[in-house]
Amino acid sequence: MKLPILAYGNKTLKVDCDAIATNSDDLNKLIDDMWETMEHAYGCGLAAPQVGETIQLFVVDSIVMYENADIDERKANFIEGDEGMRETFINARIIGKSDETWDEIEGCLSIPDIFKRVTRPWSITIEYLDRDFKAHTKTFHGTTARIIQHEYDHIRGVLFIDRLSAFTKKLIGTKLKKIMSGKIFTDYRMKQ
Ligand SMILES: [Zn+2]
Repeated sequence: MKLPILAYGNKTLKVDCDAIATNSDDLNKLIDDMWETMEHAYGCGLAAPQVGETIQLFVVDSIVMYENADIDERKANFIEGDEGMRETFINARIIGKSDETWDEIEGCLSIPDIFKRVTRPWSITIEYLDRDFKAHTKTFHGTTARIIQHEYDHIRGVLFIDRLSAFTKKLIGTKLKKIMSGKIFTDYRMKQ
């Protein structure tokens, strides 16, 4: 089932989300719905608070980014042998970040029509449970690491625009007000 995506301005997007204690049928249904919602909106990541659930859960698909990238972008944004991945992250914790950083344009399904450069570490190491509650510790790089960091921010109530300079944030002020007042068109269902 496709879920409405909460728009910028909704207070749920600012919540520091709770850890998930146990697996359940409801959780599995929510995960399925989040994948369906993200794919329908042509997103590459979606976090539970974006669909109104303040729990530490997000889904990431960097395969779609790899497939849509040209040869130069693949060379710049993916390491050798990395063709992206699809994964569900529960109770994730980033335990390591590279000193090396890079800038790339980001957007967010909750903040439509705004795309800005964000500086983030090139690599991260993350501990998480997958949807079967199997524990993993993995290191990701480039675009995959960027999407994970964007979604990881979401479950802590942080949006990518919070990482922009005061100057850039001022430039997008009018657009943000439009989103808050629901005066924006999207191909997917949004809710304020
Ligand atoms: Zn987002």
